[in-house]
Amino acid sequence: MQDEKMPIGVVVSGADPVASLEKVRSLGLSTCQMSVPPQSWWSEERIELIKKAVQEKGVRISSLICGFEGESYRDIATIKRTVGLLNPSMREERVKKVFLFSDFAKRLEVKVLQAHIGFIPEEKDSSDYKGMVEAVQRIADCCRKNGQFFALETGQEPAKVLLGFIEDVARENLKVNFDPANMLLYDADDPIKALEILGKYVVGVHCKDGKRPEKKGELGKEFPLGEGEVGIERFIAKLKEIGYEGPLTIEREISDEKRWKEDILRAKELLEKLR
Ligand code: MG
Repeated sequence: MQDEKMPIGVVVSGADPVASLEKVRSLGLSTCQMSVPPQSWWSEERIELIKKAVQEKGVRISSLICGFEGESYRDIATIKRTVGLLNPSMREERVKKVFLFSDFAKRLEVKVLQAHIGFIPEEKDSSDYKGMVEAVQRIADCCRKNGQFFALETGQEPAKVLLGFIEDVARENLKVNFDPANMLLYDADDPIKALEILGKYVVGVHCKDGKRPEKKGELGKEFPLGEGEVGIERFIAKLKEIGYEGPLTIEREISDEKRWKEDILRAKELLEKLR
């Protein structure tokens, strides 16, 4: 199973990891990215339960996604204030949270930890930029000690800004989870060109679709895979071109469970034809 090229997976909640693994299997998928389960799942006994479910259901957890209390994606200003490591008043506390997430991921034998770290400032001399570089260095060092990659989710800034940031952090285990739709939702870049720029750092991808915002400064809109402006065919072709063989993880951020399942199954069908 683990040798399959481009296995298709899905982003799921870690609120109940065992139920989520069952859901992934029921969709006929073999891999998933999961939000870090709440601390009530961190005991030895419950970690064993998750590992047993991974074995029994034949579903691999390819990465754990870090989230922080108080994050909101309501609009650009709120994202700047609440998401990731940009806001200095929350930075230290969140870095320490990621250390704990990394230790938990190690016990669960998951090799990639990933996060939206928030908008990366374009001014390299600013204290926010320097603060974020230092924070990500410490996180990457902790992940390295635990045998993990730390992957940054793309899309909130142009690929060149992210590339410059990665080079400034200068840690070999710092990688990218490439989300082509985010590039459009945040009107940040062209997804295919961005993939070319960041290609060698990509250890995971989100198969998500979307359209650019109608008005500058607003957020674009997410669409079911194949119905937005990413050009999923071009996206998968470009992944092959850069030699990417990791999971194709479908992401669909809607709360209607029935529609969510329908969209995931349609996306799976589409990806099976393209990969
Ligand atoms: Mg994403």
